[in-house]
Amino acid sequence: MKQIVIISGKGGTGKTTVISALARLVPDKVLVDADVDAANLEIVTSPELESSEIYTEGEIAVISDDKCIRCDICRQNCRFDSIIVGDDGSYSVDEHGCEGCRVCKLVCPADAVEMQVMESGFVKKSKTPYGMLFHGELSAGRDNSGKMVTYLRELGVEEAQKNNFDWVLIDGAPGIGCQVIASLTGVDGAIVVSEPTLSAIHDLKRVVELASHFHIKIGVVINKSDINLSLTREIHRWADENKMPLLEQIPLDKRIVNAMAERKSPVEIGDDALTKLYENIWNNFIETYFSHH
Ligand code: SF4
Ligand code: SF4
Repeated sequence: MKQIVIISGKGGTGKTTVISALARLVPDKVLVDADVDAANLEIVTSPELESSEIYTEGEIAVISDDKCIRCDICRQNCRFDSIIVGDDGSYSVDEHGCEGCRVCKLVCPADAVEMQVMESGFVKKSKTPYGMLFHGELSAGRDNSGKMVTYLRELGVEEAQKNNFDWVLIDGAPGIGCQVIASLTGVDGAIVVSEPTLSAIHDLKRVVELASHFHIKIGVVINKSDINLSLTREIHRWADENKMPLLEQIPLDKRIVNAMAERKSPVEIGDDALTKLYENIWNNFIETYFSHH
């Protein structure tokens, strides 16, 4: 079983169209939406919720104003500067900074600190016409630290193993932060979607550099390849130099945009030549790296 992630730069590069097509084309797989902040995969796969569990990410301290004697000892001892003194002199905890280390609870002479489990959101398992989907939902105000992504991937791998499936297809988070690292760590391959604009090429190079650190097999897709042919050629050259296969290039096509607006993937437009482009992405990728012949 192999884990393949679809990634791009900051967004708007057609990652969603590629993953929505692959979700339909790749057989025997489990889908994982690791782009928790923009859960596009659930939009394009019409999932039916099967189960959902509360997802927690550790504890935070909470100060009881009734018990607190305002001695300031907790604030002096919090290594994460997460004890806040209000204008009225009351003490509270900055839940975004608190690391749950319990030091404040230990040092408080008034027993005014309680530890509380933080609900960070939900992880969901859904049935789609194209296989099981694992996706998450962060509670308002909770940052995606990447831990939820790691957990969703574990659930996906478990499900694939249970069914003897060959693939876990992951919709990766954009950018280069914790979530991307959590999307990339330990995957077997990455399909990077870019487009011929300077900012997209910049993002492409950064994300590929990151993926190379993890020794991931990388293939490149150029979306909207005809909007700037000279930059498309530059991506070609660069991929060549870095010994990465260019899996396919997809021209700008208004029908794709319209299809996505109707929650359909490009392979449902019914244009065989277009569908073939998306099939090529997958076939070229596995032939380059995962074919045993
Ligand atoms: S639990 Fe640790 S990090 Fe959180 S407020 Fe207390 S001392 Fe600071
Ligand atoms: S150590 Fe306890 S009593 Fe002192 S300020 Fe902090 S919460 Fe209040």
